[in-house]
Amino acid sequence: MIVSVDHSLSGAVAPRKKLVSVVVPFYNEGDGVDSFYRAITKIFEKQCDFEFEVVCIDDGSRDDTLQRLIGLIDRDQRFRVVELSRNFGKEAALTAGIDEALGDAVVPFDADLQDPPELIPVLIAAWLKGADVVQARRIDRGADSYLKQKTAVAFYRAFNFFSPAKIPENVGDFRLMNRAAVNALKKLPERQRFMKGLFAWIGFNTVTVDYSRNARAFGTTKFSGWKLWNFAIEGITSFSTVPLKFWSYLGALGALLTFSYAVFIVVRTMIFGVDVPGYASLLVAVLFFGSLQLISVGVLGEYLGRIYMETKQRPVYLVRHLHQRNADAKQL
Ligand code: UDP
Ligand code: MG
Repeated sequence: MIVSVDHSLSGAVAPRKKLVSVVVPFYNEGDGVDSFYRAITKIFEKQCDFEFEVVCIDDGSRDDTLQRLIGLIDRDQRFRVVELSRNFGKEAALTAGIDEALGDAVVPFDADLQDPPELIPVLIAAWLKGADVVQARRIDRGADSYLKQKTAVAFYRAFNFFSPAKIPENVGDFRLMNRAAVNALKKLPERQRFMKGLFAWIGFNTVTVDYSRNARAFGTTKFSGWKLWNFAIEGITSFSTVPLKFWSYLGALGALLTFSYAVFIVVRTMIFGVDVPGYASLLVAVLFFGSLQLISVGVLGEYLGRIYMETKQRPVYLVRHLHQRNADAKQL
């Protein structure tokens, strides 16, 4: 007798392994591509229950980063390279990679190996236990200079004072997000992308894992003091309107004090008569309030500039080529 078996119902098909995408922005990191490759693939070997893909973004590097990344694709088909048309900055590069990633979970990761790849399995374990987002928190910033540590603390304090969406201290971009969180992130349309803030804004069930951050394995930081300062302003203005409102309250307080002082002068003049001196105090008051007004106009300008940039609706990044195995450089 021939018995036909319906394989679709027998449950014999092995379940698909979950795919984890590691998203890595590269900007002039040519010297480090090989050590990055070795370090990251070593982690994958021990994680047999998962498939991995590495989405590398070449953020308009001027060295041989792109050629070396393309070389990786020949060695390992898990690697894909998004080549941007120029340098768009880390936030845009990360956005490009997250858009391109196909994984059930996505892990943004720095090319310079400052974040230990060994932590990726720890993030995955926490994700499997049910977390939507697993964020990695640096408990030791010893690798950063004293000034960078202090300014970082000041920035986190300032940001959280101003912004309704709080970012946890010492949590960078290194984290794991499940597909739902990634899809939520992709819905945020803004052009000025302060990723740390966007990550915090989406919410989701979040778990924190502590680690200590290494010094750069190679190369030098791409963020100068001035760039970091602008980055900080970008972050605060993207998430808070408190700096705009502040001036109304300061103005009201100033008006109140001035009015009280005016009443005082009128009463004093009626009692003691006219008193001519006061040139110095007058000048100080004029200059002081003039400066305050300039600062407040400057703050308005910061926001106006951002509104202007947003209204242009330009894309966050432009892709020149998507390099991947079997599709040799699919032109977009
Ligand atoms: N990066 C980038 N585009 C840029 C600047 C930086 O893609 O315009 C990448 C860089 O290659 C690295 C990551 O962003 O993989 C973090 O940069 P970096 O290590 O210089 O920052 P730091 O760790 O000093 O804050
Ligand atoms: Mg770094």
